[in-house]
Amino acid sequence: MTVTVRFAPSPTGNIHIGNARTALINWIFARQSEGTFILRFDDTDRERSKAEYADGIERDLAWLGIRPDRIERQSQRGKAHRAATEKLKAEGKLYACYETADELDRQRKRLALRGLPPVYNRAGLSYSPEELAKFEAEGRKPHWRFLLPNFREDPSQPERTEIHWDDLVRGAQTVDLASMSDPVLVREDGSWLYTLPSVADDIDMGVSHVIRGDDHVTNTGAQIAIFEALGARPPQFGHHNLLTTASGEGLSKRLGSLSIQALAEDHYEPMAVACLAALIGTSVAVEPFASMEMLIDRFEIGSITKSAAKFDVAELDKLNARMVHEFPYPAVAHRLAAANIGGGEAFWDTVRGNIDKVEDAAFWWQRIEAAEPDIGPEDRAFITRAAELLPQEPWSEATWGEWVEAVKAATGRKGKTLFMPLRKALTGEAHGPELAFMLPLIGRERTLARLS
Ligand code: GLU
Repeated sequence: MTVTVRFAPSPTGNIHIGNARTALINWIFARQSEGTFILRFDDTDRERSKAEYADGIERDLAWLGIRPDRIERQSQRGKAHRAATEKLKAEGKLYACYETADELDRQRKRLALRGLPPVYNRAGLSYSPEELAKFEAEGRKPHWRFLLPNFREDPSQPERTEIHWDDLVRGAQTVDLASMSDPVLVREDGSWLYTLPSVADDIDMGVSHVIRGDDHVTNTGAQIAIFEALGARPPQFGHHNLLTTASGEGLSKRLGSLSIQALAEDHYEPMAVACLAALIGTSVAVEPFASMEMLIDRFEIGSITKSAAKFDVAELDKLNARMVHEFPYPAVAHRLAAANIGGGEAFWDTVRGNIDKVEDAAFWWQRIEAAEPDIGPEDRAFITRAAELLPQEPWSEATWGEWVEAVKAATGRKGKTLFMPLRKALTGEAHGPELAFMLPLIGRERTLARLS
């Protein structure tokens, strides 16, 4: 089977880590089966959709390593959506309703008082000519509902009608079409809600698998019925769990700090973000895989758990640091050069274990090039003596040990009182990478200057 998936964001804001999870799961699924990944902008809401958000989504996906095979915009597919609408109308599967939001609300309340579920009563199917004339006279415009196929002869007598699908994540699912209202597909102003354009596009684009957040599980039964009403075989569905913040709140596009853009600006590694976004909330251990290929290899859609997963920035920090600690020099050489960080491989190998983000290497490069020595008055004489004992160049990784032995013998200091004043004098810091490696990078001239 040819696999075609789509990621269908509405470009009404920046995408966050939860949206990235949906995109990544689709992307990985497509790559695992040599399929096609479509980025489909769900931009039928003309008011809220913005070109700059669509551009931002493309940029954020590229940052994560996702390169869509195809890009589509629903706003350009009006003709196909109109055709689907007309087909359903012609077959009596889309019918006009004139209730106002208030009237519908009252209906729901009446049903609730009688302990009944809030299912629309299909009044739209049987307006009298007088009622229709009255609506017209009042200037009301109809909205259009899809007639769910949950009856034998008479739509006013719905019967239990089960729809089944084998969810890629949740396993066997069943919904009863009689338990839900006929969904509104077209608004009073003629614009579409998300459902019909989505199904029509899935059909036209040959989407084989719809993989999305489990907030859409409740839409699936009706959507399967719409696929069938349009004469198509429904795709396979997979609903993954949603991410929440560490405190359990849902993510929203307004939550700026967890937007992909903000994470990129904060210098997180794209693969750290991708690994966490894809593997959190699965039974697979979250590992900092250095390449998308490795993540694709490891990920299994069936390993996604059913309950929501918490996204914790502290976990991202840890994962990012683990990744950075493992980076070989060639993986970062161009980034260090771009940030005017010298020292080559020797420098990188010295500092990588002490930094959480690659960009933090600049801090240690600055400490090598131009540290502000921190020498307390109680250590002044000790430091002067240490300066006198500083070995001649050439220096190697053994120089530090030789020097410290000589200083120890001459001053009688040991342990922290021996090392700490030297560290603070050389780097201006109380903690940091191993001095055996730092010392040759600093060099004799700068070391002497810092000790004097
Ligand atoms: N625009 C919808 C969303 O972002 C798409 C849902 C779907 O994938 O069917 O939730």
